[in-house]
Amino acid sequence: MPRPRPHRARRVLAGLLAPATAASLLLTGAGAGVGAGVGAGVGAGVGAGAGRGDQPDRTPPSDTLFPGSGTSDLDVRAYRVLLDHDPATHLTHASVRAVAVATRALTEVHLDYTGPEVTEARVDGVAVATEQAGHVLTLTPATPVQGRFRLRVDYVGRPTSLQDPDGSTEGWVRTSDGFTALGEPLGTRTWLPVNNTPADKARVDVQVTVPTGWTAVAGGALVSHTTGEAGDAGSTGLTWSEPTETWRWRDTRPVAPHLVLLAVGKFDTRAREVHLTGGRTVPAWFVEDAAGPNARAARRVLPEALRFLERRFGRYPFASTGHVVDDASVGYALETQTRPFYPTGWTPTTTVVHELAHQWFGNSVGIEDWHDLWLAEGFATYAEWVWEGAHHGAGPARQLDRLYARSAASSFWSPAPTTFTDPTDLFGEAVYLRGAMTLQALRERIGHRDFWRVVRAWGREHRHGTATTADFERLAERVSGRRLHRFFTAWLRTPERPAGY
Ligand SMILES: [Zn+2]
Repeated sequence: MPRPRPHRARRVLAGLLAPATAASLLLTGAGAGVGAGVGAGVGAGVGAGAGRGDQPDRTPPSDTLFPGSGTSDLDVRAYRVLLDHDPATHLTHASVRAVAVATRALTEVHLDYTGPEVTEARVDGVAVATEQAGHVLTLTPATPVQGRFRLRVDYVGRPTSLQDPDGSTEGWVRTSDGFTALGEPLGTRTWLPVNNTPADKARVDVQVTVPTGWTAVAGGALVSHTTGEAGDAGSTGLTWSEPTETWRWRDTRPVAPHLVLLAVGKFDTRAREVHLTGGRTVPAWFVEDAAGPNARAARRVLPEALRFLERRFGRYPFASTGHVVDDASVGYALETQTRPFYPTGWTPTTTVVHELAHQWFGNSVGIEDWHDLWLAEGFATYAEWVWEGAHHGAGPARQLDRLYARSAASSFWSPAPTTFTDPTDLFGEAVYLRGAMTLQALRERIGHRDFWRVVRAWGREHRHGTATTADFERLAERVSGRRLHRFFTAWLRTPERPAGY
């Protein structure tokens, strides 16, 4: 996500009318598949942790900023999402399959989920009791699960958006002709039953059936695009009353929950080959609503920006690229994996550079805890500065000088990038600007050569994994041969202006 977020122009969702041409579409089979042993309340009070307060206990908490979100009891390896979606009525039928590993014996399986009512859930093929309380979906299998197991959760209804602590909107956001689902930090739970922590990356495969004329797009590569006739079954087995298109996208690399993208709309889609450094090419899909100058400009700068970043960060870590431009009025762009999201009408070049830089730092090298978000946003902001410095703007050295000149009494210096306690500071200046300043201060401390060795090793050693601030500090010390603990404490953990750089 880029900083700063512009003022948001809120729209009244109820005032958005679906296209009249789709009004005749009927989905049949709503409620089909409601199985035995399913229903709200079943299983309440049964098993460890249920029934205390409105949220089940999940131990140990996975995240220090959002301790109620995600669990380290689960390691989800893959999600397969099957959807039938009608933009005219917003009605969505979903069947979510997952392969997961329980890291200890679990009498209950807890997922983050605030979507429509679950119609059926299964564990290893057997229907199980479910309960939705707060943002947690509890599945209670007849016998505890341990090790590798399969999950299935079906629902029917209309997912909704979520309002963040800082007032921004995420989750399943309706647009004039469909929706865009954005998940940072927590919104993916509005439509996907998910282990909602950045620590648990998983492969994601999404297949969506929509009426003819609509496009469904997700991250990764387009695996298939097929058409169906009236009377044919959609992705969840639902029978459609009119012709359809089915789109399947698959990201072969693991994705953190907050970086999963899904959008449906009347898009223009352009498939291209992008030439990277060293003669390598990757496919790009540019999926654009009401293609305007911003979409075209973002499309045009992408190849050059990727090559610019490759020369500094190392090889582009993913197998496809592109973007999605949609009229979801959220007021921010997002580095959704392989294919960033941009709202219509607002895409400065530095924002494109920022979101593409995240593909290395934040996406490929993911975070384990939200308090480490500077490892994503500090790097992406730093990439903007490096780009500007190479294009007649202020480079990172001047940016550091300029920002450091702020008064020591300024609120800019508190909280520190990794020790804030208020979730509204997650997308604040400490994480973005002071995070980037930390990198430039490090560069001036250890020298250009070692700094870029650290950056490239960081991208290489944690590619497609997750890492922590402590990992970064160890790497910087190893590469530079210097002791840097006091340096990082001053820059990342102390809510005051560092003594110097
Ligand atoms: Zn960002």
